[in-house]
Amino acid sequence: MMTTAASPQTCEVKTTCPYCGVGCGVNARVSDNRLIAVSGDKSHPANLGRLCVKGSALHETTGLEGRLLQPQIKGQPASWEQAINKVAQGFKEIIAEHGPDAVALYLSGQILTEDYYVANKLMKGFIGSANVDTNSRLCMSSAVAAHKRAFGADLVPGCYEDLELADLLLLVGSNTAWAHPVVYQRIVAAKKARPEMKIVVIDPRQTATCDIADLHLPLKPGSDGYLFTGLLSYLADNSALDAAFIDNHTEGFDNALLAANQLTGSVAESARLCGLNEAELGLLYDWFSRTEKVVTLFSQGINQSSSGVDKGNAIINCHLASGKIGKPGAAPFSITGQPNAMGGREVGGLANQLAAHMDFSDPANIALVESFWEAPQIARKEGLKAVDMFQAVHDGRIKAIWIIGTNPVVSMPDADFVREALQRCELVVVSDCMEKTDTTACADVLLPATGWAEKDGTVTNSERVISRQKGFLTPAGNSRHDWQIITAVARAMGFETGFRFSSPGEIFTEHAALSGFHNNGKRCFDISGLSALSEREYDQLKPVRWPCVKGKQHNPVRLFSDGQFNTPSGRARMLPIMPAAPLNQTSPDYPLILNTGRIRDQWHTMTRTGKASRLLNHIDQPFVELSTADAETYAIIENDLVEIASTQGRCVVRAKIAPGQPAGSLFMPIHWNAQFASQARVDSLFASIKDPISGQPEAKHCPVTIRKLNTLWQGVLISDKELTDLPCEYWCKVPLEKGFRYELAGLTLPQNWPSWLENQLEIGTDRIELNSSNNYRLACFNAQQPQLLFFASSDQISKQALPNSAWLSKQFAQTTSTAAQRMSLLAGKPVDNSDDGGAIICSCFEVGEKQIRQAISQGATSTDALAARLKCGSNCGSCLPEIRALLS
Ligand code: SF4
Repeated sequence: MMTTAASPQTCEVKTTCPYCGVGCGVNARVSDNRLIAVSGDKSHPANLGRLCVKGSALHETTGLEGRLLQPQIKGQPASWEQAINKVAQGFKEIIAEHGPDAVALYLSGQILTEDYYVANKLMKGFIGSANVDTNSRLCMSSAVAAHKRAFGADLVPGCYEDLELADLLLLVGSNTAWAHPVVYQRIVAAKKARPEMKIVVIDPRQTATCDIADLHLPLKPGSDGYLFTGLLSYLADNSALDAAFIDNHTEGFDNALLAANQLTGSVAESARLCGLNEAELGLLYDWFSRTEKVVTLFSQGINQSSSGVDKGNAIINCHLASGKIGKPGAAPFSITGQPNAMGGREVGGLANQLAAHMDFSDPANIALVESFWEAPQIARKEGLKAVDMFQAVHDGRIKAIWIIGTNPVVSMPDADFVREALQRCELVVVSDCMEKTDTTACADVLLPATGWAEKDGTVTNSERVISRQKGFLTPAGNSRHDWQIITAVARAMGFETGFRFSSPGEIFTEHAALSGFHNNGKRCFDISGLSALSEREYDQLKPVRWPCVKGKQHNPVRLFSDGQFNTPSGRARMLPIMPAAPLNQTSPDYPLILNTGRIRDQWHTMTRTGKASRLLNHIDQPFVELSTADAETYAIIENDLVEIASTQGRCVVRAKIAPGQPAGSLFMPIHWNAQFASQARVDSLFASIKDPISGQPEAKHCPVTIRKLNTLWQGVLISDKELTDLPCEYWCKVPLEKGFRYELAGLTLPQNWPSWLENQLEIGTDRIELNSSNNYRLACFNAQQPQLLFFASSDQISKQALPNSAWLSKQFAQTTSTAAQRMSLLAGKPVDNSDDGGAIICSCFEVGEKQIRQAISQGATSTDALAARLKCGSNCGSCLPEIRALLS
């Protein structure tokens, strides 16, 4: 462990953030086996010292609350020996009776490269099936397929520095400000230093990312393909092609242009198909054609589509046709969602990959991997991709599945179907660090895995940089590392020889050696330069970008600078793209389009970020954003409880009226699940529609309808105990520093509030209450500590004016010694009647909207002035777009 002594008890460890694909370096300050603080690592090339609000709160998420600490079989504690034998025996019996394709592994972009490597090796090399897929399928598999089609391999040409060097930056289908905040901060700083740099946001929604945009193109949902084929036609019509590059380094140009011209041969037609203003689209095309340094950063808005691969290739075509690739500040750039999606791709963790950027298309690849692994029975064909895999679980073709580090009952489309599939399955094994998730609830065998602060290995970020993630806390309870669990199961299945690893370093060097095995320049993914690392060198490995070829002094930062691609001809392939509208279209019953995405302060299914109460200050309840026009049509006002329904399911969430939301289109976040809310699993609304090439599900375009729920009461309950299954139409849990808050609403009015409460939890006798015809309030105390606070209102006017939950939550952690303090709790506002700060905008310094508005009215009319007065926005900067919105 590379540490720097700070005091006898504390040390600082360099590690990597476990959340998004930016892959920021983190300094973790550790004292007595506790993570006490984090800061950005100034020496890490991804973030150069920055962290976003999620990264800054990492030390608030490593407690033992909710951790899975012991193996379980059928809900009963078990020893590791029993659990490993149960899994190994179960898999062996099913394979013996039904063959290797009757079992499957489903992995995660959150696990480390070493975990991925042994899981992939076990399944493809030793069990003999390629039924190993990963939640990265849901995130960027369309970009992977587009890269392979165009470049011959899954290669991201550029690096983050290119985003700063570009003179024109296109952000497509990416709310970078919230989903990749540190990359966004780098772009903001570059724009500040060079105001002439142009930024264009291409997104149906007006997101926080538009804050720095010179041009926002709010295109029709799903129409991105038309925009980029239109751009290719425009480049050809306006002498903006790089003829020499096309001639010398590409193939397929004529067909690509022919296809583009068929549908989008004029700016007017492209604008019509995209629902855009012709002049504004023309401006983008003009800028693109006149600018040499252009980066197109694309993300889930492109990938999560029934034609995501074509959209990726439509983007790449434009860069190839104009030679804007392989140069500083010029590249198509797919940014990944997860911290180790790239590492998973490197080892071959997708069902259509084999290993080390080799696939099943060439028998020589299979023979090569077979001999390297000394594999007893290697898979010879692709396995089932995520959607098909869970379909096979549902219909019984797959009889055993092992899910590692992910929560498909929340994140897969048609999530209720996935839950049903797991409930039907003969053997469901789940490895996780958390005990209660929507997926662990379906497990026959639960295996406690170590968490971020305990795991040791490597991850690769979106710019091909491999970084060490360090284990600096001792494994919690009886948890073990994923690679240890997988290799133990492999050995118990009889595969002794291939899995005698005693450290992650040994696994990494084997992985590195495979990447260089009989490579000779054939495969760009080559990290053979790292294959001879000693344990000490591996431990101290600094961030390193691939390729990193053995014996080669200068490995390129940017790919394709020499015009050479990874195809048999060495030329990049331009594809004829015929754009298509999303498959699932609206109907009279489902007339609105639902889009999904991340919010600023949460990560995936909230199993970790949900533990940091500070991260729930910004947005604490599941919501749907809708336009002002739709709000009027459906008679919905801000904060109403609404039902969103599709052909697959229904959700109940709060309404947020957002001026930047286009009419006819809704937006919901992906994070909430059955552990945090009664009915807010957005993926339960989506049908399993997927891209035919990549298998990536369409998660941005779901026909739905919306209606206001006529609730008869709403309430807030704060308890020192965690509650489950509250008997009301809507509940949403907000973990606090001390206790839990529940936001509630019901369609039927309980007869008697005290009895209703007593059915849910024990209420002490030291209590004060207020009971009027429409309102009920109760505060219970244990000595001088609040034990329970409850506010309910059935008043149609005042129910929107329940006390400020954030203020109440803070008070719940305080000692309440005087009668005035007790009464203040029941009143739901401060003793001195002062203001409560309002909804939190700056999570780092807990600065509320009301405070910011007040400071603005008192003359703090810039972000700098507000930072000087309230500190808001002065740490991670994630809230700056919202502060600017308040200022404007
Ligand atoms: S941008 Fe934030 S979430 Fe992403 S890696 Fe950096 S600190 Fe972590």
